[in-house]
Amino acid sequence: MTETSLIGFSRGEQTSSTFRAVDPKTGSELGTEYSHSSEGDVQRSCELAQLSCLPMASLSGQKKAEFLRLLADRLDGAVDSIVEIMTVETGLPEARVRGETGRTSGQLRMFADLLVDGSWVDARIDRADPGRLPLPKPDLRAMLRPIGPVAVFCASNFPLAFSVAGGDTASAWAAGCPVIVKAHHAHPGTALLVGKLIVQSLEESGLPEGAFSLLFGEGRIVGQALVTHSVIKAVGFTGSRSGGRALFDLASQRKEPIPVFAEMSSINPIFLLPELNMDEMENIADGLFASATLGGGQFCTNPGIVFYPNNGDGEIFRDSYAEKMKDYPPVAMLHQGIRESYAKGIEEMVKQKGVEVLALSDLSEEGNGGCDAGTCVLNTSIECFLKNPQLTTEVFGPTTLLVSYEDKEDLLRVAREMEGQLTASFFGHKEMLSSHENLLDLMETRAGRLLFNQFPTGVEVCESIVHGGPYPATTDSRSTSVGTGAILRFARPVCYQGFPDEFLPEELREENPGGIKRKEG
Ligand code: NAP
Repeated sequence: MTETSLIGFSRGEQTSSTFRAVDPKTGSELGTEYSHSSEGDVQRSCELAQLSCLPMASLSGQKKAEFLRLLADRLDGAVDSIVEIMTVETGLPEARVRGETGRTSGQLRMFADLLVDGSWVDARIDRADPGRLPLPKPDLRAMLRPIGPVAVFCASNFPLAFSVAGGDTASAWAAGCPVIVKAHHAHPGTALLVGKLIVQSLEESGLPEGAFSLLFGEGRIVGQALVTHSVIKAVGFTGSRSGGRALFDLASQRKEPIPVFAEMSSINPIFLLPELNMDEMENIADGLFASATLGGGQFCTNPGIVFYPNNGDGEIFRDSYAEKMKDYPPVAMLHQGIRESYAKGIEEMVKQKGVEVLALSDLSEEGNGGCDAGTCVLNTSIECFLKNPQLTTEVFGPTTLLVSYEDKEDLLRVAREMEGQLTASFFGHKEMLSSHENLLDLMETRAGRLLFNQFPTGVEVCESIVHGGPYPATTDSRSTSVGTGAILRFARPVCYQGFPDEFLPEELREENPGGIKRKEG
């Protein structure tokens, strides 16, 4: 049997071009065959999305929230089936799959709560003043409205939370946008299972058919056809810098350029300030080990680089961390492509002048599935680091570059040269922060989230989280892809001047029936 795309509430065409998922633990192809979406599938999904634009935009917050909650319940109810397929397609352990299912349904419920509250639309009201001199003031009212159909690319490292019903999709729906998802080739079965739950939930909630389609196929064909289709008005992406950048460039070159919110590469620097003592250094080595190996090091917030003081306590940290990493057994990475980039990335790094290998698993040991990868710890001096931009390249996986520094000025030089990051973490004593103010100020211009005495890997899903940052962490430093703020990517402000009350959106009417918070001038 060959599975096909989901185009609204129907199935896509069966084409001669097919693929199968591969179990990263065994290397064997899984039974189900998936048909790459045809040009007609892309066209039909875009037409349906276009047809559903106005009905989606006119849905009340309550109605959208009902749908999001229903889908969240269905996801939780299907967790056993999700575990069955996702563990095989990704090699991820059952506990992680259950946890990610909960995170995904939790995100849907978080957006449902946001919609019921309603104040996210940022309503602003300036009432008319006909007597104002020298000119009368008109009545002006503004709020956020949906941007239009959104193309979402599934992430390989979050097959649920950043895939079919993940954060990009949930925030786009919450804003009132139809969504067309391009599945990741590594986990099509997981994508289809979730896609079917979405279709059932849409039908039961009475939402328009074009609110969702799911396409299978290569990024360079199906993904690019989607991003260049005139119906698409924004893109959500998590993956490699080359993939995100290619889509950003394509979207900018369209007759009508559109925003691309791509979350790409970050080495998440950690700065160990000079005052830490031996015990504290040992504790940091423990915490860093847990952080760098979580999920096989395949998190975008994985700490890839640590600056430590070149003194006795710093050496304790370095040696203790390298020892722990040496003992960590290889794990299957998510797919062959990630495993290959990991091995290539390490090979490049160890070739660099002044780089010393402190721990390195045998790169030729790939396990039966060809995807196994072990840890790597490299060490270099601040001078070598600053001379060689190659050392700031993200190597996606359980690897860390340790860089010894001499003084405060070295850290400032690093910060001045640093590319955009998702996170930057500082370890030290509260009392000493004031003597590193310049470092904090500089890193604030480079990262989306600053942490003090904490590791960056875990990303809390909440109101105040920022999962974003200057390029190349993302293609739009004003955005976050996690938390309630993610909705803002898929909405745009619209101003209504001089309209009678009954023709205004409910949120801007005098009586304010939803009781939302508004800025009134
Ligand atoms: P990827 O290669 O960027 O692929 C992500 C998605 O984008 C896939 O659906 C892919 O299609 C599509 N795509 C890639 N290049 C494209 C292009 N030029 N035009 C159109 N679509 C394109 O990422 P991945 O497969 O998840 O992992 C590969 C590498 O990405 C990793 O080794 C790692 O370096 C990086 N990565 C980073 C993060 C992060 O959060 N920083 C997360 C995951 C991965 P196909 O299905 O055809 O491949």
